[in-house]
Amino acid sequence: MSARDQDLREIRDAVAKLCASFPMEYWRALDRERKYPTEFVRALTAAGWLSCLIPESYGGAGLGLRAAAAVLEEVQKSGANGAACHAQMYTMGTVLRHCSEAQKRAILPKLASGELRLQAFGVTEPTAGTDTSSIRTAAVRKGDRWVVNGQKVWTSRAEHSDLMLLLARTTPREQVAKRTDGLSIFLVDMKAALGKGLSIRPIRTMINHATTEVFFEDLEIPADNLVGEEGKGFRYVLDGMNAERILIGAECIGDAKWFIERASAYARERRVFGRPIGQNQGVQFPIARAYMAMRAAELMVERAAALYEEGAPCGPEANMAKQLAAEASWQAGDMCLQTHGGFGFAEEYDVERKFRETRLYQVAPVSTNLVLCYLAEHVLELPRSY
Ligand SMILES: Cc1cc2nc3c(=O)[nH]c(=O)nc-3n(C[C@H](O)[C@H](O)[C@H](O)COP(=O)(O)OP(=O)(O)OC[C@H]3O[C@@H](n4cnc5c(N)ncnc54)[C@H](O)[C@@H]3O)c2cc1C
Repeated sequence: MSARDQDLREIRDAVAKLCASFPMEYWRALDRERKYPTEFVRALTAAGWLSCLIPESYGGAGLGLRAAAAVLEEVQKSGANGAACHAQMYTMGTVLRHCSEAQKRAILPKLASGELRLQAFGVTEPTAGTDTSSIRTAAVRKGDRWVVNGQKVWTSRAEHSDLMLLLARTTPREQVAKRTDGLSIFLVDMKAALGKGLSIRPIRTMINHATTEVFFEDLEIPADNLVGEEGKGFRYVLDGMNAERILIGAECIGDAKWFIERASAYARERRVFGRPIGQNQGVQFPIARAYMAMRAAELMVERAAALYEEGAPCGPEANMAKQLAAEASWQAGDMCLQTHGGFGFAEEYDVERKFRETRLYQVAPVSTNLVLCYLAEHVLELPRSY
């Protein structure tokens, strides 16, 4: 269902109200100790926001991507970090389109109620990197089961998820016509698999992101857990990407708004040389520039989300939305830190935390160069460079 502007405003207000009950001290303490925001994710789930994309017939709110984008933007704009749970929205791109009716009936109502969490998406591998077709994690069919061996890296939230969507090779690369053929997606019951062929090792990073390495050693998965058709997994991942890019774009817009609001407030209050620092054009102009960049990127995010909801092709817009928004949030973050001077580095101002957090979106889920490669090849018809 496509949301009206009035509905979107109401969604934003409700999400902002929920986020206000998780003050900056909460996020600061979690960041310091690299802890997962369990209470926040529970509250967002209980209020139905994390399942807003799940159709009503499966217990969700049945809203469209613009509504989901509004939820995530508002979370980031409040100073929170939605990366703790945003995958429950991204994974819907694959689940709603490609899971069987039986699979949907088994998981969607439980995801909507919060009984189950689907927060982990295992695609990236240490040796393949951006070249997804080179992944080595393999699933081999043995009777009524698949046996999985291999390793994933950067599988975020794996320790806080009941289910994982896993991309694995089911036909060796040498035996397929196209290197992107022969990959398949599986639903993995992580709680059942832990210690029985699945192990997880956390990776400490510069942000509080609960990211991990995941190892598969003769892990057995029921044959029924294959998603869609065998060998079509790469296409299924691509299908989900536009939604993911648009949602990340919305998160970056939320971050940029937070930085701009914080910087403006500080520039109005902080007095040096007997006047507010914001009276100096050298301080005002970077804030105004960051605001312009954010507003321009916001238009592209809105355009991409509207196209997606109409069911129209939106690959270029989704990629541009993610990239422009990630650049705008980084520009705003850099400006905000500079506006705060030394205090930008102090933990208690939260600027340094958000500065670190928003940097991720120029690397994950897709890095800047790969977005540029996409536009060069698919929009500008330049030769493929890789
Ligand atoms: C905190 C965090 C969380 C993540 N969460 C997840 C997750 O939940 N699930 C998941 O599957 N993955 C996840 N990722 C992985 C993320 O999607 C990848 O890091 C990202 O896609 C880049 O891949 P890579 O790190 O292997 O870089 P590489 O592929 O090694 O690339 C390194 C650099 O080289 C550049 N490069 C590579 N090839 C080319 C080329 N042909 N032309 C130009 N430049 C090129 C890239 O742009 C990049 O800047 C996460 C990563 C991080 C850091």
